Amino acid sequence: MVKSLEHMLLLRLCVTVASQICVVLFANQSVRELSTSVENHGHVILADPSPILFYPISSTEIRCLVDVPGQKLPSIGNGEMAKHLKTMVAPQVPPEIHDAFVNAVDKGNIRTMPNRSMPADPQPTPGALLMGDAFNMRHPLTGGGMTVALSDIVVLRNLLKPLQDFHDAAALSRYLESFYTLRKPVASTINTLAGALYKVFSSSPDQARKEMRQACFDYLSLGGVFSNGPVALLSGLNPRPLSLVLHFFAVAIFGVGRLLAPFPSPKRIWIGARLISGASSIIFPIIKAEGVRQMFFPATVPAVYRAPPVD
Ligand SMILES: Cc1cc2nc3c(=O)[nH]c(=O)nc-3n(C[C@H](O)[C@H](O)[C@H](O)COP(=O)(O)OP(=O)(O)OC[C@H]3O[C@@H](n4cnc5c(N)ncnc54)[C@H](O)[C@@H]3O)c2cc1C
Repeated sequence: MVKSLEHMLLLRLCVTVASQICVVLFANQSVRELSTSVENHGHVILADPSPILFYPISSTEIRCLVDVPGQKLPSIGNGEMAKHLKTMVAPQVPPEIHDAFVNAVDKGNIRTMPNRSMPADPQPTPGALLMGDAFNMRHPLTGGGMTVALSDIVVLRNLLKPLQDFHDAAALSRYLESFYTLRKPVASTINTLAGALYKVFSSSPDQARKEMRQACFDYLSLGGVFSNGPVALLSGLNPRPLSLVLHFFAVAIFGVGRLLAPFPSPKRIWIGARLISGASSIIFPIIKAEGVRQMFFPATVPAVYRAPPVD
């Protein structure tokens, strides 16, 4: 496998500033397992300070997504980026793909792109509609940006379908305000999961956060509904924000349960309490930024019922 990676596959590195993640987790699996599965699976390495992704993007190429938190990106031109990747990232890459990773860095197969979490902030403007990353962005950890953009296109297509006349830009803009609520089930589920998983999978010196990270990994490793559920959420197949919240707190409760079993000690109870409070402090700000009403009670938003402008 090392041979195939080094000689047959082109390892491409994508570095993002500010932060991202997603699919098959292998932090605790043997490297042997990785070597047999890397060709057909994406892998998330629970690294420090944030997750690293490896995933095939064609039959001959694997992309490695490295997240560089912060605003300042090491320069590719003066070699700072290569140094960062070799000294900070390479030691955390499983030995089987270490050499392929370093080779890719040496060859300069590096692309960088800025990223930030940017909840949708609609500014209805007659004659214009903002879509894609420019309108709404999230961490690429779960690879959800294109899914959200394409889902938005379907929502917009359905809204425009009954229209014959597009000349009254002001009336059209008022009618299209429903777009911002109708897109929410898919967009907010994917955005929230991306932001929450990124935080949960980022490293932290806090014992409660470490427990949450491990609990999340072990929860997904249970398989069945425990992995199918989150995967359906992050792929947009189950656009239900409530289901996301339930899974998120199921992970937290799973983590607390493991802490307290078989005998709870005061220290473990304290860590468990901080785990729940930490989980809440991760997910609730994201939900607030997405908009609680639009996310959970879209039917109460009047714009949803706006009729198409009369021709
Ligand atoms: C590393 C990485 C991996 C990802 N993986 C996935 C994935 O697996 N699945 C998924 O669904 N999403 C994924 N995403 C997210 C997805 O790529 C984006 O959400 C999607 O590309 C957004 O499309 P867009 O058209 O809005 O913006 P973009 O694709 O960024 O397109 C914007 C275009 O505008 C051009 N442009 C910018 N400024 C100007 C200018 N002034 N004049 C002219 N042109 C300009 C840019 O060059 C670019 O071509 C990933 C993102 C990253 C960073």
